[in-house]
Amino acid sequence: MARAFLGLGSNLGDKETYLREAVATFTDLDAVSGLYETDPIGGVEQDSYLNIVIELSTERNSRELLEHGQTLERKANRERKIRWGPRTLDVDVLWVENEEINDPDLTVPHPRMKERAFVMVPLGELAPEFLKDWEDPNDGEVRRIKDW
Ligand code: AMP
Repeated sequence: MARAFLGLGSNLGDKETYLREAVATFTDLDAVSGLYETDPIGGVEQDSYLNIVIELSTERNSRELLEHGQTLERKANRERKIRWGPRTLDVDVLWVENEEINDPDLTVPHPRMKERAFVMVPLGELAPEFLKDWEDPNDGEVRRIKDW
């Protein structure tokens, strides 16, 4: 069994429902952070995001988790017309115990997680040890709306 963390976000349509339907598919789910609302980054005019981080106790490796996430993104009818643009569902593999992957299509731990308060703040709720060497980039407001 490995401990693993995934980041989920949505900023289009019924955002909370996209997140709830995605979370419900994880049979190896251990914990869910609070629900956060965050300002979009990247300069494209778009609605705010809802973000969560989930913790798994899993037999699956990083690649299997990536594939699960991509299946969910497809199911949510994700449209990627603009880079950094709106998406119904985005799933990132953040960290998997004892795994370091550097493939063209998969890097674990996620190389940009520390630059993103909307990942680190919910992650810190579940695993405060990740915040030890982390400096908040203050890249936009991250508001905790409610418990999951
Ligand atoms: P984005 O939709 O902007 O999050 O980028 C998705 C792309 O990033 C996919 O094509 C993945 O293959 C790639 N990718 C690389 N590392 C990761 C990771 N740790 N978690 C999720 N996607 C990843």
